[in-house]
Order: sequence, then structure tokens, then C-alpha cells
Amino acid sequence: MNSALLQPAPVASVAGRWDEFAGALRLRLSPAARVRREEPLAPRTTLRVGGTARVYAEPASEADLQAIARAAQAAGIEVFMLGRGSNLLVPDEGVEGVVVALTHEAWAEFSPRADARVWVGAGLRLKNLCGLAAKAGLAGLEFLEGIPGSVGGALRMNAGAMGGWMFDVVEEVRVMSLDGKVQVRPRSALHVDYRHCAELHQAIALGATLRTAALADTGAVKRRMDAYAHRRHESQPREPSAGCIFKNPPGDSAGRLIDTCGLKGERVGDAQVSPVHANFIVNLGAARAADVLALVRHIRAQVRARSGIELEPEVLLYGRNWKDVL
Ligand SMILES: Cc1cc2nc3c(=O)[nH]c(=O)nc-3n(C[C@H](O)[C@H](O)[C@H](O)COP(=O)(O)OP(=O)(O)OC[C@H]3O[C@@H](n4cnc5c(N)ncnc54)[C@H](O)[C@@H]3O)c2cc1C
Repeated sequence: MNSALLQPAPVASVAGRWDEFAGALRLRLSPAARVRREEPLAPRTTLRVGGTARVYAEPASEADLQAIARAAQAAGIEVFMLGRGSNLLVPDEGVEGVVVALTHEAWAEFSPRADARVWVGAGLRLKNLCGLAAKAGLAGLEFLEGIPGSVGGALRMNAGAMGGWMFDVVEEVRVMSLDGKVQVRPRSALHVDYRHCAELHQAIALGATLRTAALADTGAVKRRMDAYAHRRHESQPREPSAGCIFKNPPGDSAGRLIDTCGLKGERVGDAQVSPVHANFIVNLGAARAADVLALVRHIRAQVRARSGIELEPEVLLYGRNWKDVL
């Protein structure tokens, strides 16, 4: 056997492969698109930890996105969608693949129709969606106020708050498969659950048609949003976080279980169980993903020992599987 085959690939040749892929993408995409190597992801997440994306791309159109998906598939490279990074823990070693963010304005469409339905692009921030809906006098989306994500992330996660869920208001989703095919999927064809839309694990949400309630008076919609924002302000920490770190187990609350173990304020490095809300891990400034992981393991072990309940992370470990690290 050739012993050279047993040696790890020289670093230069691995980097060269990524350079080559990034270079090929630049040639295929429109001038308005962006492609970068080793893009730091921490500033693109709300928790602000983690390493770089081997390749990072911001497509400016569906054609650009299609070109990225097809080039990645041909090269055997994984595609990872990035929304506002508000539900992610990025590992310190970064992400082995192409991270694609729909940050170009082309993805932030908000187009109300006469029948109170509204088409929204996957890159639209939920904050802007709520503001635009309030301005247009469209009711029924207020529960999304204060969730710091994008439409794409909210679809993938079936984001929910204040008794409402993203898929309560979705009529259909425009989806691109990882080989670049575009389809419109009605709500009834999608498998949706707590913090989960199965079809979006292996596909890209391009946008959705949302059903809003009857046209309402702008003031009433705005007042409801303000009340929700106030409730969040009172109950959630101000430091960087990724929102609730664990899913609520059936019939219980992860925050209550963690609090019962006396873990509020517990720290590993600069990662801390928030003293304000026990189901939030906050970054006190210089936390690393390794600190957050160690704290997640510690919390799970304590809760398991005290109550027998195995908490499951709600936050996604970007580019990896929790089961490989827990
Ligand atoms: C302070 C705070 C409060 C929060 N409160 C809530 C809350 O009340 N309710 C709640 O549900 N969540 C809450 N969250 C979590 C988070 O905001 C939501 O899960 C949100 O929907 C994630 O959207 P995002 O754009 O940030 O997605 P990201 O975190 O960037 O990504 C999440 C997942 O979606 C995928 N994704 C992103 N865009 C697309 C796309 N276009 N197509 C396919 N997949 C895509 C990503 O690959 C990843 O798997 C909170 C977070 C924080 C920091």
C-alpha cells in the first residue's frame, strides 16, 4: 500500500481546494453577489462565538443561488444556510462547507396582495416583517415581534412565541432543492413540528406566502407588538445569546428544570447560565464555543441527575450534530 495515502492531506492542498471552489463560484455568480474565504461567523450570529466558514456566499438572485447549489453538489461540498444566526452555535473550528446568506436586498421582499395575503422573501428580517405588516394594517403576525431571526430561519425552525407559530400563518413556501430545482410547496405538503420543518433540513426556503387576518387598524396591531416587546424586555437577558438553549420537554419548562438545579449564574469561561432566564446561555464577552458546549453538557448532566429528564438542545450546532459532541 502506498504510505502517502495514509498521510493527512497537506494543509496547502486542502486550502487550495477551497480557494478553487470559491474562485469557480465568483466566475459563475452575478457581479452583485459576494463570495469570501474564511469569513468569520461569530459577528453574524447573536451569540457571537465560533470560527469561520471555509467559503461564504451572498447570492443576489435565484440564479446565483442555483449556481451555488449546483457547484457545491458537483464538488461534493455541503451547503449551510445562514439566516440572522440567532439560533446557532458555531463551533470554534468553523464550518466545513459553503455558508450561504440571503442578505442581498433581493431576498427581503414584502408584497401584500389585495386579499390580505403577503409574499415575503426568506431574507426579510422578522423585525422588518412586523414593522411593514403594522404599517400596512395587516394583523396576525404580531407574535413574531422580537424574534431576532429572518423569514428563512423562522420557517426552518417553525419559530413561535406568545401562543403563535410560524406555520400557523404559512400558506405555501417556495423552496429550492440542493440540486437547484425550485418548487412551491403548500403548507399541507410540509411536515412541521415543534421548532422543526422536516423538508427544510435538505432544502432552501426562498420565501413564503403568509395568510394574515383581516385588515386591521394599524394602531391596534402596533399596540399588540409593543405589549409583546415589553414582555420580552422584562423576561430575557440583554447579553448576546442564541435564545432558549434547550427545547421544553413535554409538559415542562427547560428554564424551570435548570433553575431548580440552582444553575443560574453558573459559568464556564465567559459562557454563563443567565441569572435572568435559566434557559439562556449568554456570552459575557469572550466566550468560545467550547465554553458553551461544556456548559450545555454540565446543565444536561445536572438536570438528568435531579429529574431524570434529558434536555435536548433547541439551538443548532452549526455544521455538526449535537449527538457527536454531547
Ligand atoms: C434573544 C432571542 C430570543 C429568541 N426568541 C425566540 C422565540 O421567542 N421563539 C423562537 O421560536 N425562537 C426564538 N429565538 C431563536 C431564533 O431567533 C429563531 O429560531 C429564528 O427563527 C432563527 O432565525 P435565523 O434567521 O436567525 O436562523 P439561523 O439561526 O441563521 O438558522 C437557523 C436554522 O435555519 C436554517 N435556515 C436559515 N435560513 C434558511 C433558509 N432560507 N432556508 C432553509 N434553512 C434556513 C439554518 O441553516 C439553520 O439550520 C430567539 C433567539 C434570541 C437570540
